[in-house]
Amino acid sequence: PAAEPDPAVEAALRDGTLISITRRHGSVLVGREIVDCLLPSRMAATQQTDISVGDRVRWWEKEDGSRWIHSVLPRTTFLARPDPHYAHLQRVIAANIDVVVNVVSVKFPPLRPRLIDRYLIAIMQGGAQPLICVNKADLLEGDELREELACLDAYSEFGVDAILCSTKTGQGIDELMERLRGRCSVFVGHSGVGKSTILQAIVAREKNTGIDVAMIKTGAISEAHGTGTHTTRLAALYDLGGGTSIIDTPGIREFGLWALDVETLKSYFPEFDELAVDCKFNDCSHTHEPDCAVKDAVEAEEMSEARFDTYLRLMEELQEQGK
Ligand code: GDP
Ligand code: ZN
Repeated sequence: PAAEPDPAVEAALRDGTLISITRRHGSVLVGREIVDCLLPSRMAATQQTDISVGDRVRWWEKEDGSRWIHSVLPRTTFLARPDPHYAHLQRVIAANIDVVVNVVSVKFPPLRPRLIDRYLIAIMQGGAQPLICVNKADLLEGDELREELACLDAYSEFGVDAILCSTKTGQGIDELMERLRGRCSVFVGHSGVGKSTILQAIVAREKNTGIDVAMIKTGAISEAHGTGTHTTRLAALYDLGGGTSIIDTPGIREFGLWALDVETLKSYFPEFDELAVDCKFNDCSHTHEPDCAVKDAVEAEEMSEARFDTYLRLMEELQEQGK
């Protein structure tokens, strides 16, 4: 049971934004100042679920000078996934974000639409706006580049834009920044696609952020120090000023999906909606039913086969799990 609120504590509470968290500590941004707070043990036990980077928190200073996080204010949006080891636990990667940037790359690693589809589902569930950033444009040109990017048309058709970037040539970095200005965003994507390098490029271009670019660790840097994968890299929020903040989430290797079942899956494929009104059955799952307008559209090449393929695979996964 929760303890009775202590009026003296309540009066001392101040608000801030959690910018990083470890087992026992949370760094809280208060104006332009960073306050290091301790986490009460009940919060330490549920961190990444009930408290996450991006959360608005209340904190207070005890008489002995120690600073403590007191509580978490309600979230507007979030990005979550199941814990990779304990699938029944929801892990919140970032809270209160306006935009989730799914960073992908061409060639190395190659663009995998199925991974984009999975991220899009998680983004829709958490209520933030999705944006795709395709990095390493410098690695391909001409037809090779066009071929690799062809799968992105399916997303722009339902309003999810893709920005082509390269940290080597600087292409697209300003355009990306303009989409993020004045908002809180989080970068997610497979490791090695260039999330940290893009963040460094953005920070380096902005004036007076007060952020040391070298603090933003990239795979290249940790490799250079010979520490490779042993480096603990945690999510961190970077405040660029003017209401712009970016959360970097290194080290997310797997991205499972949360709270999906065979009934709700189709609601995450907005391009089905318009077609589905012409399916014979109004509860059509677009898998085995006759006279299915979605399947017809795929056959007629009016809808992305890759997207439909993701749908079928996810449906199979869910059926195997009995969901
Ligand atoms: P993260 O794991 O997504 O944060 O990826 P990193 O930022 O650590 O980058 C992984 C590797 O990709 C590093 O060796 C970077 O130098 C490289 N890289 C980043 N951006 C680009 C790019 O635009 N073009 C090319 N060719 N390589 C890049
Ligand atoms: Zn159908």
